[in-house]
Amino acid sequence: MKKIAALLLLFVTLPLMAEPVQVENLRLWAAPDHTRLVFDTTAAANHKLFTLDNPARLVIDIPDARLKGELPLTSDDPVIRRLRSAERNRNDLRVVVDLKGAVKPKSFVLKPNRQYGHRLVVDLFPAGPQRDGVEKKVVKSITDNGPRDVVIAIDPGHGGEDPGAKGARGSYEKDVVLAIGRRLEALIERERGMRPVMVRKGDYFLGLRKRMQLARDNRADLFISIHADAFRDPRVRGSSVYTLSRRGASSEAARWLASRENSADLIGGVTLDDKDDMLASVLLDLSQTASQEASLDAANMVFRQLKASGETHKKRVQQAGFAVLKSPDVPSLLIETAFISNPAEERKLNDPGHQQRLAEAIMNGIRSYFRKSPPPGTWLAQSAPKRHRISRGDTLSGIAEQYRISLNSLRSANQLRGDRILVGQVLRIPET
Ligand SMILES: [Zn+2]
Repeated sequence: MKKIAALLLLFVTLPLMAEPVQVENLRLWAAPDHTRLVFDTTAAANHKLFTLDNPARLVIDIPDARLKGELPLTSDDPVIRRLRSAERNRNDLRVVVDLKGAVKPKSFVLKPNRQYGHRLVVDLFPAGPQRDGVEKKVVKSITDNGPRDVVIAIDPGHGGEDPGAKGARGSYEKDVVLAIGRRLEALIERERGMRPVMVRKGDYFLGLRKRMQLARDNRADLFISIHADAFRDPRVRGSSVYTLSRRGASSEAARWLASRENSADLIGGVTLDDKDDMLASVLLDLSQTASQEASLDAANMVFRQLKASGETHKKRVQQAGFAVLKSPDVPSLLIETAFISNPAEERKLNDPGHQQRLAEAIMNGIRSYFRKSPPPGTWLAQSAPKRHRISRGDTLSGIAEQYRISLNSLRSANQLRGDRILVGQVLRIPET
């Protein structure tokens, strides 16, 4: 009888005596609006969070856990003053984060992926006044006087805890796309009538919704997400440009992406498990916000330039069809600049000269797009050459009068000899 009781007790206590969770490492990423702590753990970590005031602290309790080594000291983080740890109830781990001010914490656990094992992620959003550098820029409103600049949101993919694809020589997608994005930013900066907005400015993770939100907050006229693909076959190469279509997918990969559309792991923009999931959710987000025709138009022009300056993976712009398309407002495209999994392309992606050529090709595409379709109220729209479509009843002298130009300059701008014009004909209106 005693033996059975002892056995039962053993069964009951066994799960509790499982290996304690080891916290093996801690990474810290400072984004403009929050700081992310990532604990590498040997198993999924149950945890509890709470904050304390005077002084501001965040307490993270992880039951049945051990800390391997020391916590790193942090002094230059805008949110965290110091990290401490203590053992609690003999088996539990308590991590105390001394803060520079009140925070709103958010936490979740992530499953292992190719890059990392189990992780516990804690995001610290400063409560109260915003941190330096995140105040929204004053954007010209429609009621401002004078024409506004066209705004181009540049979104270097991935970042921070999410490295994106990795090349054979060890370079990360997140780094090369940020470098290309910065070059594009500099090019747009020099362009009259255009203004760049960097969506990701450093090495930190940004949720996909947040990326779109930043573009929208800045009233972007175009959203360009920059990536560098990976494929299991290292020979695959070339750049691609993606937009979203309402109808069927135009390639195998796009079809595959579309089939994952309703997958729950795309929700919330925290998908770090798989590079391809990441791309799928970027596209999913784009699909909900993109103005389809404008996106395709811009994508075609960028694609043509990339093709002229190098190799493209496919013969045309790729599209993926998604069911969940919501109100479109920002034309968006996604550029896979090259395959980082191809050793030759990986070398090129790290070459400043090649990065510059890619940025210039994208710039040329952007320029042709906005020349063709300048948004109303912009400097580009005002400086675009004026045209007049002839309707019934128009006369050449009447048109000249309407635009306050001489009949002769109107004739010579359109290589007209007499006064004969046709309904539907488009005339160039010369500058006065
Ligand atoms: Zn990517």
